[in-house]
Amino acid sequence: MEVIEHPVEKLRAPLVSSRRDLAERYWQYIKKERKVLGDGLRPNSVLFRPISVLFDSDWIRANPEGSHDFQSFFSNLYRSLTSKGHNTIYIQTDLLVRLVFTKTCMWNGCGLAALSGSFYYGLVVKTLPPVTVSTGCIYRVNSYSHNLQLYSGDLLRFLNKRKPKDAFCIVGITMIDLYPKESNFVFGQTSLTEGMGVFSFAKYDDNFFCHNYAGRLKKGSNCCGHEIALMFGLKPCQWLQCVMQGSDHLEESDRHPLSLGPICLWKLQSSVGLITDRYKAPHVV
Ligand SMILES: [Zn+2]
Repeated sequence: MEVIEHPVEKLRAPLVSSRRDLAERYWQYIKKERKVLGDGLRPNSVLFRPISVLFDSDWIRANPEGSHDFQSFFSNLYRSLTSKGHNTIYIQTDLLVRLVFTKTCMWNGCGLAALSGSFYYGLVVKTLPPVTVSTGCIYRVNSYSHNLQLYSGDLLRFLNKRKPKDAFCIVGITMIDLYPKESNFVFGQTSLTEGMGVFSFAKYDDNFFCHNYAGRLKKGSNCCGHEIALMFGLKPCQWLQCVMQGSDHLEESDRHPLSLGPICLWKLQSSVGLITDRYKAPHVV
């Protein structure tokens, strides 16, 4: 196993920007919160760990250098911000297909909402009841896997119509495999500008549909934490172990922690705030 351990100076640069106003923004922050972030850069940090590489097929092998620092995040005109009246994350569980596929998932939507609520502490997280999406949604049987698949673009259009007025974003979950326009399958698809995402948990495990599937809540929460953060404008992360790390296979995504590294935490802090409160919150992830 290889460990990618960056020197403190290399990690400080993307955290504390060289742009004067952004650096001042960081240093004006209260000491406690700067300590959480700053301590994370040290090699022996108890909160944050360096990235481990187990296989040549790991995403980090092909993407070794971090490029998305706080400055590029903050300067992105298209990143989304919550506002009064638009600060609720909606999780639409059980996107079902009538007649073709009637088996509902064993998914614990409340558990997923609770974990997402801890992750985005300070925002409201609500689940929406299961819904049928058969009307107008294209589906197919994959010629390789012989699994039923739904066209992800149609699900996004469906979610767009159901997005409540007070939503910051809406995330749809389905147990059915998905496919995009020009690919064999996809784990999920997001529309960052529209604040929407749809994700399939069908490929997470062979026994995903069993009640005793122990990994489902962590996998689901990891996926939701990562994908909702993309809607805030965060990008895949190469600095330290972080839920925003990219992954090219399931084993790799399972290794990612259910938490943000210090640089991504600082990005989210500038959008949502409450780092200190977040770490005081019960069941924080
Ligand atoms: Zn990160």
